Amino acid sequence: MRLLIKNAQLVDDRGELGRADVLVEAGRIASLEGGEAEHVIDASGHFLLPAFFDLHTHLRVPGQEVKEDLSSGLRAAAAGGFAEVVAMPNTDPVIDRPEVIRALLGQARRVDGARLSVAAALSAGQEGRRLAELSRLKDAGAVLFTDDGHTNEDARLLAVGLRYAAALGVPVAVHAEDATLRADGVVHEGEVSERLGLPGNPAEAESARIARDLEIQRYGKGHLHIQHLSTYTGAKLVRQAKAKGQRVTAEVTPHHLTLTDEALFGLDPIFKVAPPLRERADVEALIAALEDGTVDVVATDHAPHTLDEKEADFLRAPFGIPNLEVAFPLLFTELVKKRGFPLGRLVEAMASAPRRLLGREAVRLEVGARADLVLVDPKRARPVTPEGFISKAKYSPWAGWELVGWPVLTLVDGRVAYEALG
Ligand SMILES: [Zn+2]
Repeated sequence: MRLLIKNAQLVDDRGELGRADVLVEAGRIASLEGGEAEHVIDASGHFLLPAFFDLHTHLRVPGQEVKEDLSSGLRAAAAGGFAEVVAMPNTDPVIDRPEVIRALLGQARRVDGARLSVAAALSAGQEGRRLAELSRLKDAGAVLFTDDGHTNEDARLLAVGLRYAAALGVPVAVHAEDATLRADGVVHEGEVSERLGLPGNPAEAESARIARDLEIQRYGKGHLHIQHLSTYTGAKLVRQAKAKGQRVTAEVTPHHLTLTDEALFGLDPIFKVAPPLRERADVEALIAALEDGTVDVVATDHAPHTLDEKEADFLRAPFGIPNLEVAFPLLFTELVKKRGFPLGRLVEAMASAPRRLLGREAVRLEVGARADLVLVDPKRARPVTPEGFISKAKYSPWAGWELVGWPVLTLVDGRVAYEALG
């Protein structure tokens, strides 16, 4: 079946490329100059982009399907314009065995949403005591190793893990937080935590751990990827390490780019996340770091929980924000439209950089490219309505925000994975 997307405004990591009639056939872009097709879409006034790729998604499978499952999670991803997501291994059981990866990949092929890739645990059981069987996990399909959800307290295990993973061509991703400095902190330590009387998690818990991990990378070699960067100092350390030529990459989440700890004044656990929402100066530093490439990737850290869990009292509620379905419109509205952030750079950070980070080819809007594509409407404003989310987590820190840039069509290998045209 051939699909013709007419009059679309093309944008990829090179920026705006002008208007074209894009013909999709057999999972590829067959032409940028139109052609015969069984299905024709008039995309006037819409942007056509490479579909996004999320390096950091919690799908909660296996074992926590009450929070999310493969069907809800992968369909929510497609609705957010994602062609592929990397599922985190802090599940129940932990994804630290090849059989679990193979089973997940098999199940995901039966879901009509985004494609699935799987991150495996760096240490057995994510317990930080001995390495998982990295090469067998890689053979089963693991694309990333991480103990995300936990901090890597054992520096030697991380150094050896980085070295082994490098031999397999796989990056190691770290939740860079010093557990002892974080202690029982539930919000960013600062004026807001003091006024609320809540235990604070200082910015130094992150920056101290990043400084250590950068030293470990220098010693152990390998590719260190820093997850959900949240602090001004953390960004500075990554910038310095990159300037020295260290093999380090970093990601930032939509929430750390758009919210500050002042959102916590209402004591609503929906804003409770790890690492915590920080101060305005941190948000500004992260936006600058994303623009100049210090931060390579926007990753969602989509972390669904049940509404019951999130409506518990603040200290007991779990950490995490679901955001697959709003990530792009949120950043398009708040960064590109309101602040003039370059759209090509946002597309690079959400579509090209994550693919390259895993050694894949970036999707460019050229003849022959894999048809992972998303069509977005840059004009029609719509509020965030979490009750309409496909994700099981039907709440959002951005509920009611009027956004533009909503995806209306997501193609995964040329197949329609999400459609909301007209
Ligand atoms: Zn994490």
